[in-house]
Amino acid sequence: MHLKTLTVRGFKSFASATTFQFEPGVTAVVGPNGSGKSNVVDALAWVMGEQGAKTLRGGKMEDVIFAGTSGRPPLGRAQVSLTIDNTDGALPIEYTEVTISRTLFRSGGSEYAINGATCRLLDIQELLSDSGLGRQMHVIVGQGQLDAVLHATGEDRRGFIEEAAGILKHRRRKEKTVRK
Ligand code: ATP
Ligand code: MG
Repeated sequence: MHLKTLTVRGFKSFASATTFQFEPGVTAVVGPNGSGKSNVVDALAWVMGEQGAKTLRGGKMEDVIFAGTSGRPPLGRAQVSLTIDNTDGALPIEYTEVTISRTLFRSGGSEYAINGATCRLLDIQELLSDSGLGRQMHVIVGQGQLDAVLHATGEDRRGFIEEAAGILKHRRRKEKTVRK
């Protein structure tokens, strides 16, 4: 399984429809400051169901919709589609290619779809959760965090890894139980 294409339209700085193609292996997005590299990563997290506006570097969810520039008026909706190669059947669905998409309207409504069929957020979360792509399975290391990881003490570094592996919440739960 690998990500094939990401299409953004009206999402953050991407007013016009823009498609990114990914090949298997490592992908690097390069560009000048402020050109939208982190917005690409935000779009990935968003289409996979991210619900936290702060995680998406905004104050409220509406901030993901293209807000306009001096030469271009704001848009009424943001839409992101992600196509995943599923030839290995890692996603529990009978398609070799799966496209998930998410739309948010400035008026407030939002829509999710799998291969063009409208669905619930829960359906997307369930589809991804067994595949290593689910809500707590993909790991996004934010800008500035890399330095913190590289300069961390052994114990702190272990904390980062446990957080990424989803172990930390179980440890916290255990500590809470033991204290009681
Ligand atoms: P750096 O190299 O500094 O990390 P970057 O390439 O990661 O930069 P981003 O943070 O992805 O850049 O993009 C920032 C740009 O996106 C800013 O110019 C900001 O105005 C623009 N932007 C963010 N949200 C919106 C929005 N809703 N509408 C229009 N533009 C937006
Ligand atoms: Mg950035």
